[in-house]
Amino acid sequence: MNIAIDGPAGAGKSTIAKLVAKELGNIYVDTGAMYRAMALYMIKNGISPDDVASIEDACEHADISIIYKDGAQHVILNGEDVTGELRTEAVGNMASSTSVNGKVRAKLVSLQQKLAETTGVVMDGRDIGTVVLPNAEVKVYLTASVETRAKRRYKELVEKGQEADFEAIAADIRDRDYRDMNRENSPLRQADDAVLVDSSDMTIEEVVSAILDLTKKA
Ligand code: C5P
Repeated sequence: MNIAIDGPAGAGKSTIAKLVAKELGNIYVDTGAMYRAMALYMIKNGISPDDVASIEDACEHADISIIYKDGAQHVILNGEDVTGELRTEAVGNMASSTSVNGKVRAKLVSLQQKLAETTGVVMDGRDIGTVVLPNAEVKVYLTASVETRAKRRYKELVEKGQEADFEAIAADIRDRDYRDMNRENSPLRQADDAVLVDSSDMTIEEVVSAILDLTKKA
């Protein structure tokens, strides 16, 4: 069984998807990490987010693959495990800009579809239910208010001992939502057959249990 979880940045997709995958014995596929790995390649090579020719050229030179170590996904970029470098604001913002590119998307969608061919997956992203796995047995559109998402991110950064500015985080989330929802290629939207889950007032356990209920009915 394949489960597609889409939604905006900071909705808790990866936390939820990991727990659902563990519960079902499926593998968890974090597609955002693949867009982030492409973005990391662009940053390392000094490519600007509006240099379309160089971004498309990068698709030919950035080799991305996925491996699993103790059940956790690792992203390999040109032979190097870059997993630990992907979750910074700079890489996230670059990914949000470069993921609008059709060539970047085609490359990564094909990798994602191959991963789901051989095994049951819980895959999270923006276009999983609409483009990558249109036949997924369960589709969830997981969202939360901008305020809730910014609060969660703020708390996460403070807990890590990093500096955090709530207003800047909220503005970043709004910008990223706008770019993800208004791009020409595979914009973020709820698939017609996806179930909407608004996690603003739900605990992690409640969201996981709501999704597991959906898998029992599928
Ligand atoms: O989910 P995450 O924040 O790691 O994703 C980083 C960026 O990659 C997002 O802002 C989004 O623009 C892009 N992305 C995408 N399609 C996906 C997953 C992520 O466009 N399936």
